[in-house]
Amino acid sequence: MSLDGIYDPDNIFAKILAGDIPCAKVYEDDQVLSFMDVFPQTRGHTLVIPKASSRNLLDTDPALLANVIQKTQIIASAVRKAFEPDGIVITQFNGTAAGQTVFHLHFHILPRFTGSNVAPHASGQMADMNELNQQAAKIQAALKQ
Ligand code: AMP
Repeated sequence: MSLDGIYDPDNIFAKILAGDIPCAKVYEDDQVLSFMDVFPQTRGHTLVIPKASSRNLLDTDPALLANVIQKTQIIASAVRKAFEPDGIVITQFNGTAAGQTVFHLHFHILPRFTGSNVAPHASGQMADMNELNQQAAKIQAALKQ
């Protein structure tokens, strides 16, 4: 059983998948979408989501989950090439009590730079869309290397 209830087809990531609201797209295939977090905690904060409707890691089909995690690894490698961080944090939250705020499974890729702080999670400090699109383009270029 899912944490916090059933899947809400009107959640913000479902709207992005439907093309109803824009995103700074990094990568897309038949099962996975990746885009820049619009409230970035660090420069280059990237999200990876399955296209299938699941709330969290626990209610996701294992084969789909394996693919999403493999794509997260590939995109994290591209984020590394694009931003040359000192470290990378991968996070994923399950349920309100765990800090989840959008109830469609997603992995965060957070580049970490020595001496730079991390903004609070889902802090509401919206980034400039042009800047996010430039960051997405850098990651896309790194994916092609
Ligand atoms: P979580 O709290 O783990 O559920 O993460 C949800 C993430 O989605 C947060 O980091 C938010 O900043 C991010 N977010 C919310 N709305 C959008 C949006 N429209 N486009 C991109 N990222 C978003």
